Amino acid sequence: MVWWAVGSRMRWWPLGLVLSGLLACSTPLEPARRESARPAPRPQAVAVAPAPVVAPPASAAQPAFTTPVAPQSSVPSAAAPAVAPGTAAPYGPAVAARFPDPLVNFRTPAFQPGRTSFTSNAEVQSLLRALVRDGRPGGSTVTLLSLGSSQSGVPLEALLFTRAADPQPAALVQSGRPTVLLIGQQHGDEPASSEAMLAIAQDLAHGRLEPLLERINVIVMPRANPDGASENRRVTASGIDVNRDHLLLKTPEAQALALLTRAYRPMVVLDAHEYTAVGRFLDKFGTLQRFDALVQYAMTANLPEFVTRASEEWFRRPLVAGWKAQGLSSEWYYTTSTDLADKKLSMGGVQPDTGRNVNGLKNAVSLLIETRGVGLGRLHFARRVHTHIVAANTVLQSTAERADDLTKLRAYVDNEVSSMACLGEAVIQAAATPSEYNLVMLDPQTGEDRTLSVAWDSALELRALKTRARPCGYWLSQSEANAVTRLRLLGVVVQQIDELGEMRGEIYRETARELGQRADVRGSIADSGGVLKLQVQTVPALLDVPAGSYYVPLDQSLANLAIAALEPDTQNGYVANRIIGSVDALARVMARPDVKMTAVP
Ligand SMILES: [Zn+2]
Repeated sequence: MVWWAVGSRMRWWPLGLVLSGLLACSTPLEPARRESARPAPRPQAVAVAPAPVVAPPASAAQPAFTTPVAPQSSVPSAAAPAVAPGTAAPYGPAVAARFPDPLVNFRTPAFQPGRTSFTSNAEVQSLLRALVRDGRPGGSTVTLLSLGSSQSGVPLEALLFTRAADPQPAALVQSGRPTVLLIGQQHGDEPASSEAMLAIAQDLAHGRLEPLLERINVIVMPRANPDGASENRRVTASGIDVNRDHLLLKTPEAQALALLTRAYRPMVVLDAHEYTAVGRFLDKFGTLQRFDALVQYAMTANLPEFVTRASEEWFRRPLVAGWKAQGLSSEWYYTTSTDLADKKLSMGGVQPDTGRNVNGLKNAVSLLIETRGVGLGRLHFARRVHTHIVAANTVLQSTAERADDLTKLRAYVDNEVSSMACLGEAVIQAAATPSEYNLVMLDPQTGEDRTLSVAWDSALELRALKTRARPCGYWLSQSEANAVTRLRLLGVVVQQIDELGEMRGEIYRETARELGQRADVRGSIADSGGVLKLQVQTVPALLDVPAGSYYVPLDQSLANLAIAALEPDTQNGYVANRIIGSVDALARVMARPDVKMTAVP
């Protein structure tokens, strides 16, 4: 069994020193540059038409980024308020006193005087359009990004804030300014996350964060799962958990976020959620959960080490300090299964399914932030929103301060991942490490701290359960256009073979199969259909590759994402999830091929 440490080695080398040595980037941050005398920008909107993943790649893989569509002046017809959150107080005044309201006011819909419901989907759409129309940031533009529709037809939308003259994705990626993506409410019953993103969007649109935009671009997608929000439920309309769908891309909601990250290649992603403070924790431990914020960055197999270090040193530590300065407490993200007999706590999962981990495999600093809110209705809502706003402001500030370093980090990591093709080992399956942890919780009557020693699966140290030689690439049968479309949506480079050729590689031989369910640290994943749990052997082979079949090279920056999708004996792989028909449609290519190929658009 191979072990490696995500966290422990960070104590040895300060990241700044390591990066400046490795990347020869010891120059200090340039003074902020102000571009004056620019004409006042006009609001713009960009329609990003999502590709239906079931269609063949020739017509579907290339999303259309057409310019500019005038923002709709008419507001969508008002729907019912999102939720009637008149939840009875889940605990008494002694506990509530631990969480006083912050001395801040918000101007988002849910904070209108006397309001008891959360912000509706119609109000979100209306607010985003108003910010495009009325936003007056000095020298910046506000652009509405249309990313398709939810399963029930609600627009999936984001706002882009930038000072770049050309807000088109390719131009922004070329500009060298890091783009930060802020995501709210992938889970519909976690309302503080979207309310905070709306407040941040207001601040950006009204110029209150303008100095930051001199160094970074910001995309805010306040409500990633509007169907869940309108029903106050975690999952999307089909019952699929969008935040376990970022590799498989079954839902239009996950496809929308994939399009966004493919187009703008954010270097930093903040994914805002809320966690259960009472519920099954009270049943299991007789306690309430106390931390204002839980935080975790990407922790999954094959994640580049420097992404981990940057996440820890440039982002998590400032986040903890930022919360502390505001009197807010924080801890590593943890959760527990829905099985009441299981008293183990686990850090967030290590599978390549969540936005946190998939964006990490896209070589972004990818942060999960959770506030204590699920099941609390409107209780402490201002404090929960404030906690997310402090986090987002800290992340924007850290990105601006590290803009040059992040740009160098991205270039370095992209190149490093690409250069590993055909070399060494790749981890096929990893697991968290069982340990113990002293965790502070709350007495449900007195509200006093209670420290419990708990069984704790640490994702800071991953165990490699299964490894294989890292191939040069993967061959896919011409029948696998559906898989190719999804890989392209993720941004993975795919080549189509022009004429019959040969490749040296390995085929998979299936040795066992059973039907199962995808599972994570919470238990079974809300999903559509089960998965094939396969066992395979690899067998050396000379492959005849016909014209029209595909090659997925691993000398590309998203190689680790391709491995996560294509190795067949993992629960999130495309074979296990029947996106690829069988292991016979797939092979590992172990020597760089000499075959004529054309990139799939
Ligand atoms: Zn969540």
